[in-house]
Amino acid sequence: MDARAQLVMVFNLDKCIGCHACSISCKNIWTDRRGAEYMWWNNVETKPGIGYPKKWEDQGTFKGGWVVDRGKLRLRALGKGPTLLNMFFQPNMPKMEDYYEPFDFDYGNLYGAGEGNDQPVAEAFSRISGRKIETIRGGPNWDDDLSGSQLYAAKDVNLEEHGIVEEYGRMFMQYLPRTCNHCLHPACVASCPSRAMYKRGEDGIVLVDQNVCRGWRFCTSACPYKKVYFNWDSGKAEKCIHCFPRTETGQCMACAHSCVGRIRYVGVLLYDAEKVEQALLKPDAELVEAHRAVILDPRDPAVREAAGRNGVSDRWLEAAVKSPVHALVKEFGLALPLHPEFRTLPMAYYIPSLSPILSTQGDTHELMEHGLFPEPETLRAPLGYLASLLSGGNREVVAAVLAKLIALRSFMRARNLHQPMDAGALEKAGLDEAAAVRLYRLFTLGGYDERYVIPAQQREEQDPHTRKGASGFGILTQAGKGK
Ligand code: SF4
Ligand code: SF4
Repeated sequence: MDARAQLVMVFNLDKCIGCHACSISCKNIWTDRRGAEYMWWNNVETKPGIGYPKKWEDQGTFKGGWVVDRGKLRLRALGKGPTLLNMFFQPNMPKMEDYYEPFDFDYGNLYGAGEGNDQPVAEAFSRISGRKIETIRGGPNWDDDLSGSQLYAAKDVNLEEHGIVEEYGRMFMQYLPRTCNHCLHPACVASCPSRAMYKRGEDGIVLVDQNVCRGWRFCTSACPYKKVYFNWDSGKAEKCIHCFPRTETGQCMACAHSCVGRIRYVGVLLYDAEKVEQALLKPDAELVEAHRAVILDPRDPAVREAAGRNGVSDRWLEAAVKSPVHALVKEFGLALPLHPEFRTLPMAYYIPSLSPILSTQGDTHELMEHGLFPEPETLRAPLGYLASLLSGGNREVVAAVLAKLIALRSFMRARNLHQPMDAGALEKAGLDEAAAVRLYRLFTLGGYDERYVIPAQQREEQDPHTRKGASGFGILTQAGKGK
């Protein structure tokens, strides 16, 4: 066993209100500078929709992530031949129009325009070239709230690939906040020829060493989530740093701190690095189960001992026991990885949204008047769509999560309204009363210290072998050198 610790975020999609407070707080702190104008390390997408950069989920175009090739994992875009040919040119990288040309407005003209017949206006100009922009054609949340639009929602690859376009007419809408997933098997790290990208041994945060990066941009192409950006001014790659100057002092990330919907949870997961590669060789439909199997029980003495040997401190072990993330991902199996079939083993998890609790069959209101909720299979959000996003296409996995959420709501509704409670329904969904009360608290009233359990750390306390570059598994760089 090779037990390691990772700082992980969970998002409860039912609660996201799409306010973008998270994106703005991140932008103000980290990417409000030259060359980074178009970067949104945290962004929020409307689903169904094409997201940012446009159609990032379409690996047929962008060729990110890993594939299983003759029983082994291989970066989708890279083999020796293409690597050498593409050294100076990244054909699979999103273009500026796939993001958007960052713009601002010439507000000075409102004050400084001379006398004339027309009202002065603040015209748009490019933050890159400075030239005037006649028509703004895109932005980081251009399809915000347009989930009904033929232009955007209909092009969502999750609809196309899983043959559920016909359900589009009775589609629902939800928000999908995204940051770097600080993956356990990061394609960005494996693809970097300069070895500038690394995964910190002590907390699993994936970073770019700005002194080492030579701007090859393999990382941008290789990340299937398109969460590495190229700074056109510095010529270096940049990405979400999980707010490590904050987390090292026990504070949560700025995006989580500012989250109006209180949808985010941050905590420690322990995982077995030896199991990562085998887990990712499983077929798509088995990947969620394989993810869960990689995560270790922090109460198990053998796990604690193995983690201790790897330099995981007692403080971190205690945080792993109290971790809301461990409860949501492993203990209750409610939070699922985003696109596990990209095979980077993302360390951000999502609780699928139950809302709107509207059935495609029968009268939902009539059902609920009798204390009944619709079956997961009949909810307005098609199971196939959620499965495409969160379980490698496995509908049963998502249905099981939704069944738990329905049982939880049903039980707590009856309890709060002093109606008869059906504990059997909870049991059938794999929960009990104590679990229901605990989850209800986490989802509703849970305060800062319950939602964010982040142990402070000092780098000098860490065992040197868990420092930079110790990714914890036999990851190969494209040059074929093991780390
Ligand atoms: S999402 Fe994963 S592959 Fe992409 S930049 Fe983050 S760690 Fe790397
Ligand atoms: S701040 Fe929270 S609720 Fe608002 S968009 Fe971001 S994740 Fe959603």
